[in-house]
Amino acid sequence: MNTILPNIKTGKKQHPMTQKRIAQLIDQLADTHMIPVDDLRYLLDHICVEDTSYLFDTAHKVKQPYYQNRVFLRGLIEISNYCSKGCHYCGINRTNKNVQRYRLDKETILECCRRGYDLGYKTFVLQAGEDPALTDEFLCEVIKSIKTTYPDSRISLSLGERSFASYIALYQAGADRYLLRHETASKRLYEHLHPNDSSFENRRQCLDNLKVIGYQTGSGCMVGSPSQTNDDIVQDLLYLHQLQPHMVGVGPYLCHEDTLLRGNQSGTLLETYIILALVRLILPQAMLPATTALGTLDKLGRENALFVGANVMMPNIGPKEYLEAYQIYQNKQLAKDTDESNRDNTKKRIEAFGHIADFSVGDVHTWEG
Ligand code: SF4
Repeated sequence: MNTILPNIKTGKKQHPMTQKRIAQLIDQLADTHMIPVDDLRYLLDHICVEDTSYLFDTAHKVKQPYYQNRVFLRGLIEISNYCSKGCHYCGINRTNKNVQRYRLDKETILECCRRGYDLGYKTFVLQAGEDPALTDEFLCEVIKSIKTTYPDSRISLSLGERSFASYIALYQAGADRYLLRHETASKRLYEHLHPNDSSFENRRQCLDNLKVIGYQTGSGCMVGSPSQTNDDIVQDLLYLHQLQPHMVGVGPYLCHEDTLLRGNQSGTLLETYIILALVRLILPQAMLPATTALGTLDKLGRENALFVGANVMMPNIGPKEYLEAYQIYQNKQLAKDTDESNRDNTKKRIEAFGHIADFSVGDVHTWEG
């Protein structure tokens, strides 16, 4: 059971004086992108449902000078669901025997890219568990082939913790971006959610390494995980401010019954939107995906996230027969339509919500402008 955002949980009515103070803190965050730790803590401890419209509107406004209402579309390919890790919350962790494991070969990955490129996608996101069979040699070959065939594309990798040498090899082969959520910046919570073979320090080191190498680096965290507190979230916000990642994935914790954390309550849509909006205030120029996990909590969860600061969507362009097998959380929203109708529906929904679907490479807006 988490104890975050207590007034949101209980539906407590906001006091007018507190509402004024919360609005001031939101303005201050929008102006300076960070506020003192005690104020962050105050905001999380006191925010009520009545304050959320102002928070969301401010977050939406903050991204306008950089991205307006553009939503960048990336083609997601889940290349392997093997994983050597045992993260307690994840449905494809190594101990789950109920998962049908798969790994795509090079030709299949390239075929997904070909179809994706023909549909207009210019970024391919290659995602997998920490699969030892995904060697540097194999990945470099895949990356080089994609870049040779589509030199105007971008490649984002989401393959977990790897060595410094491996990150360099993949970067030199042509990978542009790397997504590695920090999951939580609280050592206590990190150790509660991960087995002994996962190191809080190494995860952070990996993120530092990715930035040093030159990747557009993505981090991110889970909202509503078991035993999470407002102090833990304060640490996430401080860490993101310090790291200055180019992308941040913020998603709800969603309980999976085949994990050690079975039976726990999942995070909620509103809790996640609040943290997403705060991240937007702290990192106005970051790429913030409207994650599939939000679409799992509510069928318009991703579209509504566009109004709280999100500006990226990642439709799945991988083989349909493996969609079910990549269930890091349960009841994942699966794109079972053809890639073409999935693209068209995504575009239509974005437009119906007053936004523009942008198929360009969508590099992060640089600090230099
Ligand atoms: S969260 Fe990532 S590293 Fe952990 S078990 Fe799942 S796929 Fe593996």
